[in-house]
Amino acid sequence: MLFDTFRQAASATGTVKRFRQEGWLFPRRIRRWIGKGDLIWGPLEHCRVIQILHNPRYAGAFVYGRTRGAYRQGRKSFGLKVDRENWQVLIQNAHPGFIDWDEFERNQATLKQNLTGFGRDRRGSMPREGVGLLQGRIVCGVCGARMGVRYQVVGNKLEPYYMCTENPVRRAGKPCQSVRGSAIDEAIGSLLLECRTGRSRRRASCRRRDIRARQTGRRSTSEPTCPSSL
Ligand SMILES: [Zn+2]
Repeated sequence: MLFDTFRQAASATGTVKRFRQEGWLFPRRIRRWIGKGDLIWGPLEHCRVIQILHNPRYAGAFVYGRTRGAYRQGRKSFGLKVDRENWQVLIQNAHPGFIDWDEFERNQATLKQNLTGFGRDRRGSMPREGVGLLQGRIVCGVCGARMGVRYQVVGNKLEPYYMCTENPVRRAGKPCQSVRGSAIDEAIGSLLLECRTGRSRRRASCRRRDIRARQTGRRSTSEPTCPSSL
């Protein structure tokens, strides 16, 4: 049913939306902790659609080496995605699939095309310039997800709005909230300036103390040492 819906919708978000509209549920296997191994039915999520469409097993192929273990200092090991040309084993038509290999390839092309406009890789990314610089840094107070930035023409200029896209992307629902970006940018800007002014004041006071200490030939033991990083 998922593949049929994707064939019509031609997008993962469209597929999730259709499932939601029709009230269809999708099975999910519990992988750990309580109820491990049980199958539960719930609303289909965007990440699940992507996962299934990218998995060649549903197209009847046997694959080995789609991920490899990687280590980062201070963190547990994690799986790193391997490009298709570097998969160790790929056997097409190894078993009956839900779709054939040609359709799998078409789906990959469609997903790639959709990704150029909007996708997972863009989530949390920072713009290089312009307004709305806190994209991916602002956290939604309703659901806790990181908020992206959208631009809207107001008068004759582009106005940034921080928008929570968690619900639209994951569940094809409505955004939790959107907030006018200029107000937040200004508030954070003056907060940063305030912190910086405080630092400058401390640095100036340290310098004055150092000069005084040099003039008297010794540093007062009652005064704390000025950190060099200030
Ligand atoms: Zn939210």
